[in-house]
Amino acid sequence: MLKRYEKFLKDFDKKIKKYFSEQKEHICCKEGCAGCCEVGDYPFSQLEMMYLMSGFQKLPDSIKIQIKNNLQNVKKNRISTHFYYQCPFLIDKKCSVYKYRGITCRTFGLAYLIDKKTKQVKIPECCNEGLNFSQVFDGKEIKTEPIKENLDLPSVINSKLAKSHKLEFGETRSLVNWFPD
Ligand code: SF4
Ligand code: SF4
Repeated sequence: MLKRYEKFLKDFDKKIKKYFSEQKEHICCKEGCAGCCEVGDYPFSQLEMMYLMSGFQKLPDSIKIQIKNNLQNVKKNRISTHFYYQCPFLIDKKCSVYKYRGITCRTFGLAYLIDKKTKQVKIPECCNEGLNFSQVFDGKEIKTEPIKENLDLPSVINSKLAKSHKLEFGETRSLVNWFPD
């Protein structure tokens, strides 16, 4: 299954690269900027989680220990099952498992349509901090064309692309909820 998932990711990344290029004028993502990994709930399906952990296994022991400590701290400070936290895999403002990151992680930074009928658009949170799309968002409306594909995880899981790779994603949970207390 992970081999099939890797093939799917190759196609998915190609598409996402094209979307980033279409919106490049409004995107200022760069190395060292990690706001999108500092506050979130990071939905991960079972399949994505298996892939992420295959990347974790390849990390040096010192990084593994840091991730485990981060995870424990998030769990210790959590106030409910639905909460926002810093991703435990973020080390020195970089993703320690970049190649193995989740689908949602791959779409951070883009503005896309989540409802064709209501024309509701998902805009990156960092827009409120003067980053992506802040020059074209007036607080209500975005003054540029969003990507015309819903890139939220449930939509990607049910997409034609995912189906063409015959993937079984399993259930979805917030990243830390995949780890036992
Ligand atoms: S999406 Fe926003 S917070 Fe994340 S890397 Fe890009 S600019 Fe930074
Ligand atoms: S897995 Fe990596 S890219 Fe995804 S939220 Fe965590 S640190 Fe960020």
